[in-house]
Amino acid sequence: MNGLQLTGRDRGHIVTLAEPPCQLHATAAEPFLAMRAAARRAGFDLVPISSFRDFERQRAIWNAKFRGERPALDRKGRPVNMPKLAEGARVEAILCWSALPGASRHHWGSEVDVADGNVIERGYTLRLEADEYRRGGPFGALSAWLSANMRRYGFYRPYASARRGVQPEPWHLSYAPVARGALAAMTTELLASAIRGNGVDGEAEILARLPEIRKRYVQDVDAPPRMRSRYARLSSR
Ligand SMILES: [Zn+2]
Repeated sequence: MNGLQLTGRDRGHIVTLAEPPCQLHATAAEPFLAMRAAARRAGFDLVPISSFRDFERQRAIWNAKFRGERPALDRKGRPVNMPKLAEGARVEAILCWSALPGASRHHWGSEVDVADGNVIERGYTLRLEADEYRRGGPFGALSAWLSANMRRYGFYRPYASARRGVQPEPWHLSYAPVARGALAAMTTELLASAIRGNGVDGEAEILARLPEIRKRYVQDVDAPPRMRSRYARLSSR
């Protein structure tokens, strides 16, 4: 992937699937479909809730939160009154739950947020909160199945444990063969080039904090486990 692709500003690395509807890195599509087929045999309908997201989409989310047009929560899940905060504090508050435009792993196409479509079909409204994926929760069984099986297809959870930056996201899966190299390529310079002059609110505050933002919210993730399968190797396609 080139710098524009890594930061969501070029979609040359992305393929669009009709079934299930999603957009993934060309190399991640076949492994994802193989994992979905295995999940189906185990009784789950593994559906992507969110897959590739481009820079513009991430910027729209970011700017709406920055301006207080879209609700934002603090680390404890309490609503934040954005207009009352200084710009630096707004940046900090948004980062608790949303990635900086250009810095979202969803730009890579290797990332997919998943749920069990069978549960949603029965009328359950998804919140994308960690308790839904715990044992006894609506997606607890799917989550346990993924823990036991996803590495066979090259997938793992980068936000499994509580860290300094991103909160645990048990629904967020990452295709390691693509994500590993992408993460290594996310330099502060690359992130700065995506932010500078590209209409992201709080630009000056972001640029001033960028090395720290990168460390906390981009680099501080769980590393992929050891994987040994044909899907766990990066194919040259
Ligand atoms: Zn995600």
